[in-house]
Amino acid sequence: MHCRCKRCSVAEVLPGQYVGRFAPSPTGELHIGSLLTAVASYLDARSLGGKWILRIEDLDPPREVPGASLRIIRTLERYGFCWDGDVVWQHQRHDTYADGLDFLRKNGFAYPCGCSRKRVREAGLQGVDGWRYPGFCRNLAVAAEGQLAWRLKVDDQAVAYVDRLQGVQSQNLAEELGDFVLLRADGCWAYQLAVVLDDAAAGISHVVRGSDLLDSTPRQIYLQRILGLPTPQYMHLPVLVNAAGEKLSKQTLAPALQEGLESEMLGFVLKCLGQELPSFFPEMSLAELWEWAISNWTVSKIPQCKAISVEYAPKSGYKIL
Ligand code: GLU
Repeated sequence: MHCRCKRCSVAEVLPGQYVGRFAPSPTGELHIGSLLTAVASYLDARSLGGKWILRIEDLDPPREVPGASLRIIRTLERYGFCWDGDVVWQHQRHDTYADGLDFLRKNGFAYPCGCSRKRVREAGLQGVDGWRYPGFCRNLAVAAEGQLAWRLKVDDQAVAYVDRLQGVQSQNLAEELGDFVLLRADGCWAYQLAVVLDDAAAGISHVVRGSDLLDSTPRQIYLQRILGLPTPQYMHLPVLVNAAGEKLSKQTLAPALQEGLESEMLGFVLKCLGQELPSFFPEMSLAELWEWAISNWTVSKIPQCKAISVEYAPKSGYKIL
């Protein structure tokens, strides 16, 4: 089977070979921006006869909102998403992350780091994802003491890949990021390590997620290479932003998805994704809309940009600006 996308050369898929996923963090309710990611990853998988997995990324208890995981699952059910297998929970996978770190440590790829955030900030090296770590603890003869984080040594080489929507991407991890954290000093596993091990364990072949994670992908590919894991195909979607250009999120007060507006919201995200709704859309049931969306999913119609501005008005709902 071939990808319907006329643009990418990398997305040829044989039946049964596609495994996609949606991986929300329970730091708040699902909103229209997270719905867009869920819908695109679901349609991409289902339109190619693929599997679709739901993984709750509950790695960071201090940032978790009590009850959000179950509310996310209920909302996805209400929308009619059907995932394959059981929900995967990151809090049940700490042993896998520990084994991954163990391998990296034993093979000289990871080292303990006792630097505070303040020390890193004071070094003043700006990176693509906050302050760049200058490598203070990289070659210490005696490891620092106290509560230690673990960092991965990165190479001074570009990590490049072809994104199905955003085209060629490249990042030099040493210049743009520095050695990055795998395990935080407070004992929480870092997203980068967990996501790589989880995607590999689930056999994920295609990652479809927001463009806010474009800068994370080279770190994940680098880790995959060191750990001897396959690299999935990536597609980074435009994220929905408000009129001020801020990504819709709990912090920017994006409203939670309301009950009863499922078809309307699904129709809106399909429109944002460039899929032209049929004229009979207002008469369609939610099930009919899904069926239509799966059989008409066209990657080449997705806007090739990093952000789409939208506005919400309580009476009229969402509109694209
Ligand atoms: N858990 C991340 C989020 O909610 C997504 C991670 C991913 O798709 O790789 O933003």
